[in-house]
Amino acid sequence: MKLHTRLLIALTLGIALGAALHSTGGLSWVDTINVNLLRPIGQVFLRLIFMIVVPMVFSALVIGVYELGRGHGLAGVASRTLAFTVILSTLSVVIGITLVDLIRPGEAFQLSAAPQPGGPGVPGDPGATGGIAAIEASVAAVKPLSQILVELIPRNPIETAVRALDGDMLQLMIFALIFGVAVSAATPKDHADNVLIRLLEQVFDACMRIVHFAMKLAPIAVFAIIFNTAFTFGTGIFASLFLYVLTVVFGLLLQQCVVYPLMLRLVARRSPVQFFRSCREVYLYAFSTASSNATLPLSLEVAETKLALPPNISRFVLTVGSTANQNGTALFEGITVLFLAQVYALDLAVGDQVRVLLMSILAGIGTAGVPGGSLPMVLLLAQSVGVPAEGMGLILGVDRFLDMCRTAVNVGGDLVIAALVSGPASA
Ligand code: ASP
Repeated sequence: MKLHTRLLIALTLGIALGAALHSTGGLSWVDTINVNLLRPIGQVFLRLIFMIVVPMVFSALVIGVYELGRGHGLAGVASRTLAFTVILSTLSVVIGITLVDLIRPGEAFQLSAAPQPGGPGVPGDPGATGGIAAIEASVAAVKPLSQILVELIPRNPIETAVRALDGDMLQLMIFALIFGVAVSAATPKDHADNVLIRLLEQVFDACMRIVHFAMKLAPIAVFAIIFNTAFTFGTGIFASLFLYVLTVVFGLLLQQCVVYPLMLRLVARRSPVQFFRSCREVYLYAFSTASSNATLPLSLEVAETKLALPPNISRFVLTVGSTANQNGTALFEGITVLFLAQVYALDLAVGDQVRVLLMSILAGIGTAGVPGGSLPMVLLLAQSVGVPAEGMGLILGVDRFLDMCRTAVNVGGDLVIAALVSGPASA
């Protein structure tokens, strides 16, 4: 049986069984198995992948930039990547804002009084209050723009690498980009063989092998992860806030099934059906882990092996895109902020909506590619239009499910941009 079929079966079984057992009131023996067996299995799998994210990001970017610097031209690829990122993010936020204005899901939830502690509509999520407090703390830590820009240049790359999975990924990437440019500039044009690059290629290949190995564990791990989510949160995660969830999912589907295929067909001259069929495992993995960063190793592999994209372009675009190109997240952020504004009966003028649009595009670019990475951004955006922080309680309960969906669209967008930047398939 093919890997993606096994993954799909694992996913369906995990949701069905987890939700069914959740509804029995959380049997203690199931809880024991979940805590002592399934959760660790899921963790081991995720750690295997996370373990290689730092070496892989560094080696992929340095090699990608080095090769681009010597061959195709880094400036061209980087500017095309940026242009497509902005175009796709803008389209996704416009879709999101149009839908939320048409469907108006927030009017079904109009709050006249301040929400209760713990947040209304947060089924089975006792951590909601703590969640809001934690997000508020990270918003409070937001620095002035000039300082944020200065700190993008790391003082100590080793420290940045250590903290990469805790939010310093962009700094690590910037170090790798500058380092790659320097290696390329320091290598004489007629000097074909660079020992450092060969070494980094070995590092990259070894990381790929670890991905292969981890993927053998994937079906059981995906089952374990999804079972744990469904068993802990139950179907409430899917049932409450139905209209809001529907709006986000519908928007994501439009981006995935209309915008991406059109761009692939018109710009990359590729068959969307074939393209997405080759990416099935990436989608399932992104959906299960809700992390673009964790999915990066697999996307890199699929881009090279199944999509046959030029490695020097795909390595650069996918690595940068896993943090900087998040179309699904940008769409989700736009919808969520306007949804919360509707819930609190805040009448946003056109100017405010345009501000939400622009900020959502930027927030999508600045969101960390980790589970829930966009929540501090959402809180920041929501507060900027006058939504009380407690409003976050409304969405925290369903966020995991939406995170899984938007991450799949984020990662799909990275692969689409890699194909667009690579140019027409026949060329
Ligand atoms: N989980 C998302 C990602 O990794 C980020 C987010 O929207 O929270 O792509």
